[in-house]
Amino acid sequence: MRALDPADMIGVAAARHGDRIALVCRGRTLTYAALDATAGQVAAGLTGQGIRPGERVTLFSENRWEWVAAYHGILRAGCVVNPVNAMLTAPELAAIVEDCGSAALLASGPCTERINSTLPDGVRLRVSFDDSPTAVVRFTELLGDGPAGWDSASARPRDLCGISYTSGTTGRPKGAMQAREALLLNWAYTAAMHGRSAADVVLTALPLPHVYGNCAVNSALLAGATVVLEPRFDATRMLGLVAEHGVTMIEGVPAMYAMLLDALATTVADFTTLTRCTVGGQTISDAVVDAWEKATGAPLLELWGMTELSGLATTHAAYAPSARGSIGVAFPGTEVRVASLDQVTADAPEGEDGELMVRGPLVTLGYYGNEAATRETIEPDGWLHTGDIAHRHGAHFYIVDRLKDMILTGGYNIYPAEIERVLAGHPDVALVGVGRVSDPRLGEVAHAYVVPAQGQSPDPDAILAFARTQLAPYKIPKAVHVVAALPTTSSGKIRRRDLAPPPGPPGTLMT
Ligand code: ATP
Ligand code: MG
Repeated sequence: MRALDPADMIGVAAARHGDRIALVCRGRTLTYAALDATAGQVAAGLTGQGIRPGERVTLFSENRWEWVAAYHGILRAGCVVNPVNAMLTAPELAAIVEDCGSAALLASGPCTERINSTLPDGVRLRVSFDDSPTAVVRFTELLGDGPAGWDSASARPRDLCGISYTSGTTGRPKGAMQAREALLLNWAYTAAMHGRSAADVVLTALPLPHVYGNCAVNSALLAGATVVLEPRFDATRMLGLVAEHGVTMIEGVPAMYAMLLDALATTVADFTTLTRCTVGGQTISDAVVDAWEKATGAPLLELWGMTELSGLATTHAAYAPSARGSIGVAFPGTEVRVASLDQVTADAPEGEDGELMVRGPLVTLGYYGNEAATRETIEPDGWLHTGDIAHRHGAHFYIVDRLKDMILTGGYNIYPAEIERVLAGHPDVALVGVGRVSDPRLGEVAHAYVVPAQGQSPDPDAILAFARTQLAPYKIPKAVHVVAALPTTSSGKIRRRDLAPPPGPPGTLMT
């Protein structure tokens, strides 16, 4: 029997759930049958336009239904799908398109306008989801009715099927090559671990090009659930959608939950239908988890993953109060271990910090066109360096922070995540980020940046006094800055390396 391929996924789901609603996005509702049919038309259209199997096709758009149909159509045409975050600038997009040698670009109208004339010559086909003077082909014109020029029966599990760029939280985004089995296993394991089913209604505003957004949506579609997809995160609107659609699951990064909680101060929401939520992408404070679970009555299941794994690699299969603060247990068929920081081949003892390492079918085939970075990241025996410091208790893993974000202050190592977790518990604080500032005496010191909770004006001295009750003296930030907003990556993560003290004395409000 031939193995299931990610290109077949929507077809298989449509055969089971044809009349059910697959997607609700911006007032548009699509059944599984309609999504499957459109994906087939995209595949036929790409083939008809001379795009061949194995060629890279870039998808550059905000979250919308066409994105989902196009993504599966690109896979069905046997092409390598390259989803790019819609917030990128024209030069950033051009660099990625050049880097992976895309033959075609499918973009929304606003994204099409933004990139106008900056695309490399190698792009032979340009499609816009909306009317656009600069588009060569409109999405509706692309849709074909011929056969796709590729049969998924020819695919092998380790063949390349996607190139996904990392979030760029710590540097320039790198193109992680995704194996066919990595994508499909990610969707299947995620669905199984969270018990997703056709009875679920999943609400998310996570950007689809990011692996967490991809996993949230595709694992739900694999299970026959309905996805309520938002083009952008708006806390008040999200709260209203829960009751409107009978949402059973919300998925988002920690900052989204902090903002939802902040919005709850002035908005009434009905969480009766909610059964569980997921959070990942960055460390979350217990205070936010507790407040969310108290407000909704639904457990907030943490998950962990990275672009280099095509999605997730750990999460919780069930609510486990004893494993609070943990990213969960390893996915089936995936080896996860904590390596000693001195000797990568040795395991760190239980409870001790080391680098989280992953091996198995989810691991990237390497960084596209970047052998050196691949060799640095993947050991010859297949273990992937995640760059995350973690420890293990039994089968559960706990993230400490990223190795790159560690602050070395007067000979001590401090982790911004630990400080952020504590400060997020202060009632006047809605969001917090901790960044590194160089210091002539101590080498580096930590500064905290806090966004006030609705109607509050945090006092930096009071925040420091609060920190002193819970953190060792060397971990106390040297300054607290009250700011209107924090810099974030396109996937909604706080970008610590862009945190910088504002001019003027600590406490000055930045706008
Ligand atoms: P870049 O690699 O370009 O710097 P990035 O690492 O943010 O960007 P992603 O692949 O989107 O790009 O993110 C993966 C990283 O996100 C992980 O390595 C980890 O540091 C962080 N992360 C994911 N889930 C969690 C979690 N539950 N808790 C803490 N950190 C997490
Ligand atoms: Mg990374």
